[in-house]
Amino acid sequence: MIYLDWAASAPVYPEVADIVKDVSLKNYANPSSPHREGENAKLMLEDFRVKFASLLGCNPDELIFTSGATEANNMLLYSFIFERTREINIVISGIEHPSVYEPASQLERFGIKLRYVMPDSSGIVTPERLLKKLDNMTRLVSIIYINNEIGVIQPIKQLVNVVKEAEKRFGRKILFHSDITQAVGKININLKEIGIDAATISAHKFGGPRGTGALYLKRDFKLNFLYGGGEQENGRRPGTENLPGIAGMLKALEIRTSIMEKEYPVARDTTKWLIENLISTELCTMIPQLRAPGTNEENTNFSPYILSISLPPLPGEVTVRSLSEMGICISTGSACSSRKKDRMRTLINMGIPEDIAGSAIRISYGWYTTKNELEEFLEGIKKLEKLIPRKNRKFLSR
Ligand code: PMP
Repeated sequence: MIYLDWAASAPVYPEVADIVKDVSLKNYANPSSPHREGENAKLMLEDFRVKFASLLGCNPDELIFTSGATEANNMLLYSFIFERTREINIVISGIEHPSVYEPASQLERFGIKLRYVMPDSSGIVTPERLLKKLDNMTRLVSIIYINNEIGVIQPIKQLVNVVKEAEKRFGRKILFHSDITQAVGKININLKEIGIDAATISAHKFGGPRGTGALYLKRDFKLNFLYGGGEQENGRRPGTENLPGIAGMLKALEIRTSIMEKEYPVARDTTKWLIENLISTELCTMIPQLRAPGTNEENTNFSPYILSISLPPLPGEVTVRSLSEMGICISTGSACSSRKKDRMRTLINMGIPEDIAGSAIRISYGWYTTKNELEEFLEGIKKLEKLIPRKNRKFLSR
């Protein structure tokens, strides 16, 4: 089996699996229990929080542990239901993950105005585009840092500056949130330095266990969340804490922090090599608006761990199924969007024609991926030629 779907879920590090098992077996007491074992579990939890916060460059009390990024995104978005006036508006990019996009659409049912800021044709949300969407009733801006389908990296610091300037001009606070799920453990993140007010994190994208994540929320923002029924996480996310999961998430980030900088240029070289080889198969139409990483040395706008290509006229689902039968796991885009329309939303919102968007596939890889595996993937792509009617083949050559 060749696994090239790391953006959906990455393999767990063996050291992570060990610590999850260890904490599960030894530290099973509830951190809220008043006895000694409960207190030990609580101390452990707070120790994990301090260490995790220091790796991300924030204060420990600014981290709320959750079951992953979907929950963290939902929590944050829905907290705007408690705003005193419904006249407010929120701004999200047109290429958000469904766990931001859908709750944001639901907020419209409560009267909150939703504005989309569309990226340019290479997937970038420019400061100029964002500026046009802000006014004195804007309370939230949510822009994904590294997109999970195409890997585009947003100029986040410039976007933060636009929002901070608008705050000064309008004399109102605007919360800048970013879904940093595909960035954590791949590129160095210092939350204070980036200047965002809130961020979402998921452990299973960087070698940690599934079902564990966090919401970072700066101290200056006191939000009300929809949950109730417990004092855990300062009453913000009630429910018994997933101590083994949090231990595993911390371990994974410690491992990633020690090696990610060294790995990054290697990943870039691999992606460059993969792109060159894909182009030479003459089968793929690299999504034309994207200048993928490696095609231009200066281009640092794409994550080297995610690559989107299109094989028209083959529907993305057919390519995924055919490669799966050859033992190769890839995906059409976000595993979280089941409807075709939703799956194509990111590409369509970048201005990519429907036929190319409908044929797009996502290849995502990581630290265990070998060149041999990628070569087999290339062989698989070549075999797909048989599925394409001869009369259409001309269309495919570049
Ligand atoms: N945001 C992004 C950018 C993602 O890639 C994912 C995973 N598909 C999520 C949110 C959801 O994360 P989780 O699986 O932890 O709920």
